[in-house]
Amino acid sequence: MNILFESLKFNEFEIFSKLIHAVSPRCFENDEGEIEEFSFQGNDETGKAKEHVKLFLESIKIETNNLYLVNQVHGDKVFILDDSNLTFSEVEKISADAVITQLPEKPIGVFTADCLPILIYDPRLRVIGAIHAGRKGTEQNIIFKVMREMARVYGSRPEELLAGFGPAIGGCCYEVGEDCIRPFKDLFPDEKNLYRFDLSGRHFLDLIAVNKLEGQKAGLLPENIFSMRHCTFCSPKNLYSYRREGKTGRILTTIMLRS
Ligand SMILES: [Zn+2]
Repeated sequence: MNILFESLKFNEFEIFSKLIHAVSPRCFENDEGEIEEFSFQGNDETGKAKEHVKLFLESIKIETNNLYLVNQVHGDKVFILDDSNLTFSEVEKISADAVITQLPEKPIGVFTADCLPILIYDPRLRVIGAIHAGRKGTEQNIIFKVMREMARVYGSRPEELLAGFGPAIGGCCYEVGEDCIRPFKDLFPDEKNLYRFDLSGRHFLDLIAVNKLEGQKAGLLPENIFSMRHCTFCSPKNLYSYRREGKTGRILTTIMLRS
């Protein structure tokens, strides 16, 4: 199979030979040469979810048939994967919106379709994290909570961490009610670039900008934050967007340490 729209990687992560990561595009070319959509979750009426997860992992040279995904609930809980005996299905039952681990050969990941997927890497201590940062998780400062856990459990230092921001709905398209803007106004009263209003009175939130700011406030260096800058809503051919399509598939963002 061929992955289409292959640019969904962070060059700054690619320099580490024992780090594997990727964000799934919407489509791939199957062995018959047809264009097929990934259906991991959300639109899985095809019954191909398991097969597609495996195919995607294979395409990035991860040889397990699944990965460690938690039950995402738009909260701020961080799951620490430190027991190598846990099975994929046991982890799937744990409600959380981020996973961190130091275990090698254990792929972790998050599903999104407009929410922001974030990968975190500590190159010194070799710790990885995957975060599902939606509006609610962002409101609860999930990126800070992940960094705090990485510090507490492994001794990570914020200034040494690298953060990759995957594709999310951009400030160009993320229209929200005024009530959704208010918590961010309260949190960051001096920051005017996190949201905007257009002439017809519509409100737009820039989830990526908010997460960058939260990351920096938690100690990430601006030069260590990398962003793919693809707006999911603006990329119908390449990415799923829940806002655009309602019932839709999911983007899978994954990261793994090689032993
Ligand atoms: Zn857009």
